[in-house]
Amino acid sequence: MKVKEQLRALHPYKPGKSAKQMQADYGVHSFVKLASNENLFGCSPCVMEGLRKEWNEHALYPDGGAVELRETIAETLHVKKEEILCGSGLDEVIQIISRTLLCQGDNIVTAGETFPQYRHHAVIEGCEVKEVPLQNGVYHLDEIAAVMNEKTKIIWICNPNNPTGTYVNDRKLREFMKQVHKETLVVIDEAYYEYVTAGDFPDTISLLKEYKNLLILRTFSKAYGLAAFRVGYAIGNETIIEKLNVVRLPFNVSSLAQKAAVLAWNDESFLQRTIRVNREGLQQYESFCKENEIRFYSSQTNFIFLPLDNAEEIYELCAQAGYIVRPFSNGVRITIGTSKQNEGVIAVLKQHFNNSRSRDEVHV
Ligand SMILES: *Cc1c(COP(=O)(O)O)cnc(C)c1O
Repeated sequence: MKVKEQLRALHPYKPGKSAKQMQADYGVHSFVKLASNENLFGCSPCVMEGLRKEWNEHALYPDGGAVELRETIAETLHVKKEEILCGSGLDEVIQIISRTLLCQGDNIVTAGETFPQYRHHAVIEGCEVKEVPLQNGVYHLDEIAAVMNEKTKIIWICNPNNPTGTYVNDRKLREFMKQVHKETLVVIDEAYYEYVTAGDFPDTISLLKEYKNLLILRTFSKAYGLAAFRVGYAIGNETIIEKLNVVRLPFNVSSLAQKAAVLAWNDESFLQRTIRVNREGLQQYESFCKENEIRFYSSQTNFIFLPLDNAEEIYELCAQAGYIVRPFSNGVRITIGTSKQNEGVIAVLKQHFNNSRSRDEVHV
Protein backbone atom coordinates (compact mmCIF):
# COMPACT_ATOMS: atom_id res chain seq x y z
CA MET A 1 0.00 0.00 0.00
CA LYS A 2 1.29 3.41 -0.90
CA VAL A 3 0.68 6.09 1.68
CA LYS A 4 1.31 9.79 1.17
CA GLU A 5 4.96 10.39 0.31
CA GLN A 6 5.38 12.97 3.07
CA LEU A 7 4.42 10.47 5.79
CA ARG A 8 7.80 8.78 5.37
CA ALA A 9 9.42 11.52 7.41
CA LEU A 10 6.85 11.39 10.24
CA HIS A 11 6.28 9.14 13.24
CA PRO A 12 3.28 8.54 15.49
CA TYR A 13 3.21 10.74 18.60
CA LYS A 14 5.28 9.12 21.32
CA PRO A 15 3.71 9.78 24.70
CA GLY A 16 5.94 9.92 27.77
CA LYS A 17 6.13 6.73 29.81
CA SER A 18 3.24 6.21 32.21
CA ALA A 19 3.88 6.23 35.94
CA LYS A 20 3.17 2.48 35.91
CA GLN A 21 5.78 1.78 33.23
CA MET A 22 8.28 3.91 35.14
CA GLN A 23 7.63 1.92 38.31
CA ALA A 24 8.49 -1.26 36.44
CA ASP A 25 11.61 0.24 34.82
CA TYR A 26 13.06 1.99 37.85
CA GLY A 27 11.75 -0.06 40.75
CA VAL A 28 10.62 3.13 42.48
CA HIS A 29 7.35 2.88 44.43
CA SER A 30 5.47 5.87 43.12
CA PHE A 31 6.08 8.41 40.41
CA VAL A 32 5.04 12.00 40.01
CA LYS A 33 4.54 12.97 36.36
CA LEU A 34 5.96 16.42 35.72
CA ALA A 35 6.45 15.92 32.00
CA SER A 36 3.23 17.07 30.28
CA ASN A 37 2.26 20.33 32.02
CA GLU A 38 -0.91 18.88 33.49
CA ASN A 39 -2.43 20.51 36.57
CA LEU A 40 -0.93 18.72 39.60
CA PHE A 41 -3.79 20.12 41.70
CA GLY A 42 -6.36 18.25 39.64
CA CYS A 43 -9.49 20.08 38.57
CA SER A 44 -12.36 21.93 40.18
CA PRO A 45 -14.36 19.75 42.61
CA CYS A 46 -17.48 21.17 40.93
CA VAL A 47 -16.68 19.06 37.85
CA MET A 48 -17.08 15.66 39.48
CA GLU A 49 -20.02 16.71 41.54
CA GLY A 50 -21.78 18.30 38.58
CA LEU A 51 -21.16 15.38 36.23
CA ARG A 52 -22.51 12.88 38.74
CA LYS A 53 -25.71 14.85 39.13
CA GLU A 54 -26.37 16.12 35.67
CA TRP A 55 -25.04 13.68 33.13
CA ASN A 56 -27.16 10.67 32.31
CA GLU A 57 -27.77 10.68 28.55
CA HIS A 58 -25.46 7.92 27.38
CA ALA A 59 -27.40 6.88 24.30
CA LEU A 60 -27.61 10.25 22.58
CA TYR A 61 -25.05 12.01 20.42
CA PRO A 62 -23.50 15.10 21.95
CA ASP A 63 -24.56 18.60 20.92
CA GLY A 64 -22.40 18.88 17.80
CA GLY A 65 -22.40 22.65 18.07
CA ALA A 66 -21.31 22.66 21.74
CA VAL A 67 -23.74 25.56 22.15
CA GLU A 68 -23.84 25.82 25.94
CA LEU A 69 -20.06 25.68 26.19
CA ARG A 70 -19.55 28.24 23.43
CA GLU A 71 -22.15 30.56 24.95
CA THR A 72 -20.50 30.27 28.36
CA ILE A 73 -17.08 31.17 26.97
CA ALA A 74 -18.43 33.87 24.68
CA GLU A 75 -20.26 35.65 27.47
CA THR A 76 -17.15 35.90 29.67
CA LEU A 77 -14.84 36.97 26.84
CA HIS A 78 -17.35 39.43 25.32
CA VAL A 79 -17.27 37.81 21.91
CA LYS A 80 -20.04 36.14 19.88
CA LYS A 81 -20.54 32.40 20.10
CA GLU A 82 -20.18 32.36 16.30
CA GLU A 83 -16.60 33.46 16.87
CA ILE A 84 -15.76 30.29 18.82
CA LEU A 85 -15.00 26.75 17.66
CA CYS A 86 -14.52 23.85 20.09
CA GLY A 87 -12.31 20.86 19.45
CA SER A 88 -11.28 17.60 21.03
CA GLY A 89 -8.33 19.33 22.63
CA LEU A 90 -6.26 21.97 20.86
CA ASP A 91 -4.54 19.08 19.13
CA GLU A 92 -7.67 18.62 17.07
CA VAL A 93 -8.16 22.35 16.56
CA ILE A 94 -4.61 22.54 15.14
CA GLN A 95 -5.44 19.67 12.78
CA ILE A 96 -8.70 21.34 11.67
CA ILE A 97 -6.93 24.64 10.95
CA SER A 98 -4.20 22.90 8.95
CA ARG A 99 -6.69 20.85 6.98
CA THR A 100 -8.80 23.93 6.21
CA LEU A 101 -6.01 26.17 4.93
CA LEU A 102 -2.97 24.25 3.75
CA CYS A 103 -2.33 22.96 0.23
CA GLN A 104 0.76 21.59 -1.47
CA GLY A 105 3.05 24.44 -2.43
CA ASP A 106 2.04 26.60 0.54
CA ASN A 107 4.23 27.20 3.55
CA ILE A 108 3.79 27.82 7.25
CA VAL A 109 6.18 29.78 9.46
CA THR A 110 6.81 29.02 13.10
CA ALA A 111 9.65 28.78 15.62
CA GLY A 112 12.31 26.09 15.60
CA GLU A 113 11.71 25.11 19.22
CA THR A 114 7.99 25.12 19.82
CA PHE A 115 4.89 22.91 20.02
CA PRO A 116 5.53 20.19 17.40
CA GLN A 117 1.95 19.71 16.14
CA TYR A 118 2.01 22.83 13.91
CA ARG A 119 4.80 21.31 11.88
CA HIS A 120 3.36 17.78 11.98
CA HIS A 121 0.06 18.71 10.35
CA ALA A 122 1.68 21.03 7.83
CA VAL A 123 3.87 18.15 6.63
CA ILE A 124 0.85 15.82 6.34
CA GLU A 125 -0.85 18.43 4.12
CA GLY A 126 2.26 18.46 1.90
CA CYS A 127 3.17 21.96 2.94
CA GLU A 128 6.59 23.51 3.44
CA VAL A 129 7.62 24.39 7.02
CA LYS A 130 9.82 27.41 7.66
CA GLU A 131 11.27 27.27 11.15
CA VAL A 132 12.86 30.34 12.69
CA PRO A 133 15.16 29.67 15.68
CA LEU A 134 14.22 31.31 18.97
CA GLN A 135 16.21 34.38 19.94
CA ASN A 136 17.43 33.99 23.54
CA GLY A 137 14.59 31.52 24.08
CA VAL A 138 11.93 33.88 22.69
CA TYR A 139 9.95 33.84 19.41
CA HIS A 140 11.91 35.94 16.91
CA LEU A 141 9.10 37.89 15.23
CA ASP A 142 11.38 40.15 13.18
CA GLU A 143 12.96 37.12 11.56
CA ILE A 144 9.55 35.50 11.03
CA ALA A 145 8.45 38.67 9.25
CA ALA A 146 11.58 38.45 7.13
CA VAL A 147 10.99 34.86 5.96
CA MET A 148 7.21 34.97 5.38
CA ASN A 149 6.15 35.37 1.75
CA GLU A 150 3.12 35.25 -0.56
CA LYS A 151 2.93 31.46 -0.13
CA THR A 152 2.70 31.69 3.67
CA LYS A 153 -0.77 30.51 4.71
CA ILE A 154 -0.32 30.24 8.47
CA ILE A 155 2.07 31.75 11.01
CA TRP A 156 1.98 29.81 14.28
CA ILE A 157 2.98 31.68 17.43
CA CYS A 158 2.96 29.76 20.68
CA ASN A 159 2.56 32.41 23.37
CA PRO A 160 3.77 31.79 26.03
CA ASN A 161 5.99 29.31 24.22
CA ASN A 162 6.11 25.61 25.00
CA PRO A 163 8.79 24.40 25.92
CA THR A 164 10.55 27.62 27.01
CA GLY A 165 7.74 29.40 28.93
CA THR A 166 8.84 32.74 27.44
CA TYR A 167 6.48 35.25 25.82
CA VAL A 168 6.15 37.85 23.10
CA ASN A 169 4.87 41.14 24.52
CA ASP A 170 2.01 43.35 23.36
CA ARG A 171 4.16 45.93 21.58
CA LYS A 172 6.14 43.31 19.64
CA LEU A 173 3.01 41.45 18.57
CA ARG A 174 1.24 44.62 17.41
CA GLU A 175 4.27 45.70 15.38
CA PHE A 176 4.38 42.24 13.84
CA MET A 177 0.67 42.09 12.96
CA LYS A 178 1.03 45.30 10.94
CA GLN A 179 3.49 43.57 8.63
CA VAL A 180 1.47 40.42 7.95
CA HIS A 181 -0.46 40.17 4.69
CA LYS A 182 -4.20 39.94 5.31
CA GLU A 183 -4.40 36.62 3.44
CA THR A 184 -2.00 35.00 5.95
CA LEU A 185 -3.61 33.60 9.09
CA VAL A 186 -1.77 34.28 12.35
CA VAL A 187 -2.61 31.64 14.96
CA ILE A 188 -1.64 32.47 18.53
CA ASP A 189 -1.63 29.37 20.71
CA GLU A 190 -2.35 30.56 24.24
CA ALA A 191 -2.59 27.13 25.89
CA TYR A 192 -1.04 28.62 29.06
CA TYR A 193 -2.94 31.92 28.95
CA GLU A 194 -4.53 31.52 32.40
CA TYR A 195 -1.12 31.28 34.09
CA VAL A 196 0.23 34.52 32.62
CA THR A 197 0.94 37.35 35.08
CA ALA A 198 3.10 39.70 32.94
CA GLY A 199 1.47 43.12 32.60
CA ASP A 200 2.66 43.58 29.01
CA PHE A 201 1.28 40.25 27.74
CA PRO A 202 -0.78 40.88 24.58
CA ASP A 203 -4.54 41.32 24.93
CA THR A 204 -5.23 39.31 21.81
CA ILE A 205 -9.03 39.36 22.13
CA SER A 206 -8.95 43.13 21.66
CA LEU A 207 -6.79 42.64 18.53
CA LEU A 208 -9.52 40.54 16.91
CA LYS A 209 -11.48 43.69 16.06
CA GLU A 210 -8.53 45.05 14.09
CA TYR A 211 -7.37 41.83 12.44
CA LYS A 212 -9.65 39.39 10.67
CA ASN A 213 -6.66 37.12 9.99
CA LEU A 214 -6.06 36.37 13.67
CA LEU A 215 -7.04 33.23 15.56
CA ILE A 216 -6.51 32.61 19.29
CA LEU A 217 -6.28 29.10 20.78
CA ARG A 218 -6.97 28.19 24.41
CA THR A 219 -7.57 24.92 26.23
CA PHE A 220 -9.11 23.25 29.26
CA SER A 221 -6.18 20.82 29.50
CA LYS A 222 -3.73 22.93 31.45
CA ALA A 223 -4.89 25.39 34.15
CA TYR A 224 -8.41 23.93 34.28
CA GLY A 225 -6.98 20.45 34.86
CA LEU A 226 -9.23 18.67 32.33
CA ALA A 227 -6.64 17.09 30.00
CA ALA A 228 -8.44 13.73 30.12
CA PHE A 229 -11.63 15.26 28.66
CA ARG A 230 -9.98 16.80 25.57
CA VAL A 231 -11.49 20.27 25.15
CA GLY A 232 -9.81 23.19 23.41
CA TYR A 233 -11.21 26.17 21.52
CA ALA A 234 -10.38 28.75 18.89
CA ILE A 235 -11.57 32.36 18.94
CA GLY A 236 -11.57 34.38 15.74
CA ASN A 237 -13.46 36.06 12.98
CA GLU A 238 -16.84 34.53 12.14
CA THR A 239 -15.91 33.87 8.52
CA ILE A 240 -12.85 31.75 9.43
CA ILE A 241 -14.71 29.92 12.19
CA GLU A 242 -17.44 29.09 9.68
CA LYS A 243 -14.91 27.46 7.34
CA LEU A 244 -13.22 25.55 10.17
CA ASN A 245 -16.66 24.22 11.07
CA VAL A 246 -16.95 22.63 7.62
CA VAL A 247 -13.83 20.58 8.30
CA ARG A 248 -14.66 19.78 11.95
CA LEU A 249 -16.17 16.34 12.58
CA PRO A 250 -19.89 16.57 13.45
CA PHE A 251 -19.63 15.34 17.07
CA ASN A 252 -16.02 16.10 17.91
CA VAL A 253 -16.42 16.98 21.60
CA SER A 254 -18.18 14.43 23.82
CA SER A 255 -21.19 15.37 25.98
CA LEU A 256 -19.21 14.60 29.11
CA ALA A 257 -16.35 16.83 28.01
CA GLN A 258 -18.66 19.75 27.15
CA LYS A 259 -20.37 19.52 30.52
CA ALA A 260 -17.06 19.23 32.41
CA ALA A 261 -15.69 22.29 30.64
CA VAL A 262 -18.74 24.43 31.53
CA LEU A 263 -18.53 23.34 35.17
CA ALA A 264 -14.79 24.10 35.32
CA TRP A 265 -15.23 27.48 33.61
CA ASN A 266 -17.76 28.54 36.24
CA ASP A 267 -15.49 27.77 39.19
CA GLU A 268 -13.32 30.87 39.17
CA SER A 269 -11.97 30.24 42.67
CA PHE A 270 -10.32 26.91 41.73
CA LEU A 271 -8.64 28.63 38.79
CA GLN A 272 -7.41 31.52 40.93
CA ARG A 273 -5.99 29.10 43.50
CA THR A 274 -4.20 27.14 40.76
CA ILE A 275 -2.67 30.33 39.41
CA ARG A 276 -1.53 31.51 42.85
CA VAL A 277 0.02 28.20 43.90
CA ASN A 278 1.69 27.90 40.50
CA ARG A 279 3.29 31.33 40.93
CA GLU A 280 4.67 30.22 44.30
CA GLY A 281 6.04 27.04 42.73
CA LEU A 282 7.73 28.99 39.94
CA GLN A 283 9.31 31.22 42.57
CA GLN A 284 10.69 28.14 44.37
CA TYR A 285 12.50 27.13 41.18
CA GLU A 286 13.58 30.64 40.25
CA SER A 287 15.12 31.42 43.64
CA PHE A 288 16.88 28.06 43.64
CA CYS A 289 18.31 28.72 40.18
CA LYS A 290 19.41 32.25 41.08
CA GLU A 291 21.05 31.17 44.33
CA ASN A 292 22.94 28.42 42.55
CA GLU A 293 23.69 30.32 39.35
CA ILE A 294 21.79 27.86 37.16
CA ARG A 295 20.43 29.20 33.87
CA PHE A 296 16.64 29.21 33.41
CA TYR A 297 14.08 30.96 31.25
CA SER A 298 11.70 33.21 33.14
CA SER A 299 8.32 31.50 32.73
CA GLN A 300 4.72 32.65 32.33
CA THR A 301 3.40 29.10 32.43
CA ASN A 302 3.10 26.06 34.72
CA PHE A 303 6.53 24.74 33.73
CA ILE A 304 10.11 25.92 33.80
CA PHE A 305 12.83 25.28 31.21
CA LEU A 306 16.48 24.96 32.19
CA PRO A 307 18.78 25.23 29.16
CA LEU A 308 21.55 22.65 29.57
CA ASP A 309 23.32 20.04 27.49
CA ASN A 310 22.92 16.97 29.70
CA ALA A 311 19.12 16.77 29.82
CA GLU A 312 19.10 12.96 29.60
CA GLU A 313 21.31 12.73 32.67
CA ILE A 314 19.00 15.07 34.62
CA TYR A 315 16.02 13.01 33.43
CA GLU A 316 17.64 9.83 34.80
CA LEU A 317 18.48 11.39 38.16
CA CYS A 318 14.93 12.73 38.56
CA ALA A 319 13.47 9.36 37.54
CA GLN A 320 15.55 7.56 40.15
CA ALA A 321 14.04 9.90 42.72
CA GLY A 322 10.48 9.30 41.47
CA TYR A 323 9.96 12.37 39.25
CA ILE A 324 9.29 12.24 35.51
CA VAL A 325 10.52 15.39 33.76
CA ARG A 326 10.78 16.12 30.03
CA PRO A 327 14.23 16.14 28.40
CA PHE A 328 14.92 18.09 25.17
CA SER A 329 18.10 18.24 23.11
CA ASN A 330 18.97 21.61 24.65
CA GLY A 331 17.45 21.50 28.12
CA VAL A 332 14.92 20.08 30.49
CA ARG A 333 11.29 21.12 31.02
CA ILE A 334 9.76 20.58 34.45
CA THR A 335 6.06 21.00 35.23
CA ILE A 336 5.35 22.97 38.41
CA GLY A 337 3.73 20.78 41.07
CA THR A 338 2.91 21.07 44.74
CA SER A 339 5.49 22.77 46.91
CA LYS A 340 6.61 19.36 48.21
CA GLN A 341 7.01 17.95 44.68
CA ASN A 342 8.96 21.03 43.63
CA GLU A 343 11.22 20.66 46.65
CA GLY A 344 11.82 17.03 45.72
CA VAL A 345 12.99 17.91 42.20
CA ILE A 346 15.03 20.84 43.46
CA ALA A 347 16.85 18.53 45.89
CA VAL A 348 17.83 16.28 42.96
CA LEU A 349 19.02 19.25 40.90
CA LYS A 350 20.92 20.71 43.82
CA GLN A 351 22.83 17.53 44.44
CA HIS A 352 23.64 17.15 40.75
CA PHE A 353 24.89 20.72 40.32
CA ASN A 354 26.93 20.60 43.54
CA ASN A 355 28.55 17.35 42.46
CA SER A 356 29.34 18.54 38.96
CA ARG A 357 30.81 21.78 40.35
CA SER A 358 33.11 19.99 42.75
CA ARG A 359 34.15 17.72 39.83
CA ASP A 360 34.95 20.82 37.75
CA GLU A 361 36.98 22.31 40.58
CA VAL A 362 39.08 19.17 40.87
CA HIS A 363 39.87 19.36 37.15
CA VAL A 364 40.93 23.02 37.26
C1 LIG B 1 -0.71 21.18 25.75
C2 LIG B 1 -0.67 22.04 24.56
C3 LIG B 1 -1.60 21.94 23.53
C4 LIG B 1 -2.58 20.80 23.42
O1 LIG B 1 -3.56 20.91 24.31
P1 LIG B 1 -4.85 19.97 24.23
O2 LIG B 1 -5.95 20.96 24.34
O3 LIG B 1 -4.74 19.07 25.42
O4 LIG B 1 -4.85 19.22 22.95
C5 LIG B 1 -1.56 22.84 22.49
N1 LIG B 1 -0.62 23.79 22.43
C6 LIG B 1 0.31 23.91 23.40
C7 LIG B 1 1.32 24.97 23.29
C8 LIG B 1 0.33 23.03 24.48
O5 LIG B 1 1.31 23.11 25.38
